Amino acid sequence: MQPFTYMRPATTAEAVSAFAGAGEGARYIAGGTTLYDLMKLKVERPRHLIDVTAIAGMDAVATEGEVMRFGALAPMSAVAADPVVAAEYPVLSEALLKAASQNLRNMATIGGNLLQRTRCLYFRNPGGATFACNKRQPGSGCSAIGGLDRGQAVLGISEACTAVSPGDWPVALTAMDAVVEILGPGGTRTLPVVELYRLPGATPHLEFTLDTGEIITAIMVPKTPAGTASTYHKIRDRESYAFALASAAVALELEGDRVTRARIALGGVATRPWRAVAAETELAGTRLTPEAALAAGHAAMRDATPGRHNAFKIELGARTVADALLIAAERSRA
Ligand SMILES: Cc1cc2nc3c(=O)[nH]c(=O)nc-3n(C[C@H](O)[C@H](O)[C@H](O)COP(=O)(O)OP(=O)(O)OC[C@H]3O[C@@H](n4cnc5c(N)ncnc54)[C@H](O)[C@@H]3O)c2cc1C
Repeated sequence: MQPFTYMRPATTAEAVSAFAGAGEGARYIAGGTTLYDLMKLKVERPRHLIDVTAIAGMDAVATEGEVMRFGALAPMSAVAADPVVAAEYPVLSEALLKAASQNLRNMATIGGNLLQRTRCLYFRNPGGATFACNKRQPGSGCSAIGGLDRGQAVLGISEACTAVSPGDWPVALTAMDAVVEILGPGGTRTLPVVELYRLPGATPHLEFTLDTGEIITAIMVPKTPAGTASTYHKIRDRESYAFALASAAVALELEGDRVTRARIALGGVATRPWRAVAAETELAGTRLTPEAALAAGHAAMRDATPGRHNAFKIELGARTVADALLIAAERSRA
């Protein structure tokens, strides 16, 4: 085990200044459900841990006018169970409830969930085997390409990396045009959730657009007329708990059975939370029949590139989108 220092600041300002003072190898830690894991696997080797869980008020959830504001330290389980979220944003509560297990959701924070790293086996390198991974060790290659790639991405991939973006919650937030609030040495800024994630390109080790020392303080979700006509549909190998093979976050605005606006984002199939713009455009103004829903699903997966063992994700992704659209439409009639 590599030695590390440990600090527990009481405010966000203290956290940012502790990070700056700690120097190289500093990392924030919240619930620790994924960072400790990666430390044990020796994939992450932080020298300084700045535990943010003592920061008062950073777990608050509140409606502020037309926006729902979620403090980044709110536990996943608490946000999922919030009665306003469950009633008015089913896509959000379902994305959380279908992620991990209840005891993990009690520990894990919604801010940490945004920044979890890929579950690609070659990245996690269990047992210290000698797999190449450009994300873990830049320039070393990618054993997943041409290897066992059943779980890998088919959208947003590059010659350097095909690792899937693992989180469910960021996919739902992407569909809902959510924004993150960030505090760093340069002050506060906001950023659309979708812009938090980089495509792998030639530099897959650079995953997020946060600057050094920046902390996510909150997530804001604007209200939408879609209301309850939203869902998070997740297909996985094991229903009790598992990461997505394919998932779709959908919110619909309808006039009768005609779609006036669809929001669609995909998980489990892409290297970052994936907004399905082509599918949204194709659906606008159409009657939402099962055939139209499947056509939109195929539009969402149109740019997919399969590897050796994951071509099934293209049809699975299309059908996941189609099912999600029909579930959301059914809810609008309830
Ligand atoms: C067995 C298992 C199954 C799982 N299944 C799923 C699943 O199906 N779907 C899913 O979405 N997730 C799943 N997860 C992942 C789980 O949801 C994450 O581990 C959890 O959300 C991370 O939150 P945390 O607070 O524990 O983060 P931590 O482990 O504390 O931190 C994660 C990362 O975020 C950074 N960080 C944390 N908070 C902040 C902040 N406020 N500002 C800046 N940086 C920060 C840390 O530096 C670290 O890099 C699973 C995990 C396990 C162990």
